Amino acid sequence: MSELVYDLIISGGTYWTSSGSCKADIAVLGDKIVAIGTAFPHAKKRIDARGLDILPGIWHVHCHFREPGHSYKEDFESGTRAAAAGGVAVCIDMTNNTPHPTTLEDFEAKKALVAPKAHIDYALYGGGLYPQTVDQLAKAGAIGIKIFNTRHIKEVYPYISELGVLDHGILYELYEATRDTGLRASVHHDDPEWCKRMTFRDYIEKGRTDAVSYHESFAKGYMYGHGMVAGLASSLYYARVAGVKLHVLHLGVMPVGAYEMIRHAKFDLGQEVTAELELGSMFMTREQMRKVGPNSYNWAHSPEDGWNSIESGVADVIVLEHAPHTFEETKPGWEDMFSIPLGMTGAQEFVPMMLNAVHNGKLTLSKIATLAAERPAQLYGQYPKKGVIQVGSDADFTIVDMNAEIVFRKEDMFSKAGHTSWEGMKAKGVPQHTIVRGQSVMEHGRVIGSPGYGMFITGKAATQR
Ligand SMILES: [Zn+2]
Repeated sequence: MSELVYDLIISGGTYWTSSGSCKADIAVLGDKIVAIGTAFPHAKKRIDARGLDILPGIWHVHCHFREPGHSYKEDFESGTRAAAAGGVAVCIDMTNNTPHPTTLEDFEAKKALVAPKAHIDYALYGGGLYPQTVDQLAKAGAIGIKIFNTRHIKEVYPYISELGVLDHGILYELYEATRDTGLRASVHHDDPEWCKRMTFRDYIEKGRTDAVSYHESFAKGYMYGHGMVAGLASSLYYARVAGVKLHVLHLGVMPVGAYEMIRHAKFDLGQEVTAELELGSMFMTREQMRKVGPNSYNWAHSPEDGWNSIESGVADVIVLEHAPHTFEETKPGWEDMFSIPLGMTGAQEFVPMMLNAVHNGKLTLSKIATLAAERPAQLYGQYPKKGVIQVGSDADFTIVDMNAEIVFRKEDMFSKAGHTSWEGMKAKGVPQHTIVRGQSVMEHGRVIGSPGYGMFITGKAATQR
């Protein structure tokens, strides 16, 4: 009998899971991990991973790839190309599109539009706006229901005004409907009337609108601050009454009260609440904000609480939000930050920024394997098919060189935005290979896969009911 020939062997590396690391070879047949051990002799392809670390394929669960409707900022091809280049194997796309995927028809249209463009595996949020369509979105494969409990103070994109669910009655009905599907309700919380009143009173009506004034208003908690915590407070309560699984977005940027509320709900009340820690705000320095001005919009109000939330279990997943706008759109922000679309880039920078944080003692590779692969796969119902290196799981890997260094430059970015919020910043730790279901989609920074290879990941509700 002839010996088994594997499709891929990754040899000599150290692989990581939530329980630690192990030095072993990994054998892949088709799209699955079929063996972990030593001295597998025969393979069609071999990756020499000596000196490298092998993470489960990284999930980036907060991407705005801007299709349909805003593809001049980004599209599914450019967005997933940037993600693949940066070591991301799986992404989840948000809903502030035109038209937005809040009805079955528009959700199906978006699915069809993006399918031929994806370089990596992907899932789509269904847009939470109409309680009566939530069940249909779930059956069509939505990974969760995204709700914008917010509206921009001047109704400037990215928060498409009609997507903002500010009426708590409708929010509650969305929670009831989402509960019945078994999906998570992922919410950007806010109290936009409060934000609007404070910001207009102290800044806009006084003609203080430049980037420096915006930074000051941010520091006071007017923009992306106290309003988010106040919104979270009522949402946590309504979610508990409705019995929905609430997923809190944008932890990281929020002031300290948010951490305490989530801790209380989770551990004292036993509520089914999870949270997404936004590393972008924690990595963003005041100095970098001054440098890139309108190409970023926040820093963490309380970074120590952010880092502590990983250890305490308040945070479940980590992201570096990717919400690009073009340079032309953000440029007027130097003069008037309150009238431009706000966002930042993060698809390509996410993995190197996390690896750099390992060198700084803020993260470990095991924590990255947990919070950027295993936990997201669990939260979105895909574990253990995805999110972990073990026999039987999808052969998704992010192979990294912890000693390589990168300086972020707009010329090297694949995002259509044409800039990076991290311009000039250096990271130590660079992904060398992105492997999705056994296929290399990136090698040494070059994206070698094809658009359309990435597969649609169906939300749990569509498969388990
Ligand atoms: Zn977002």
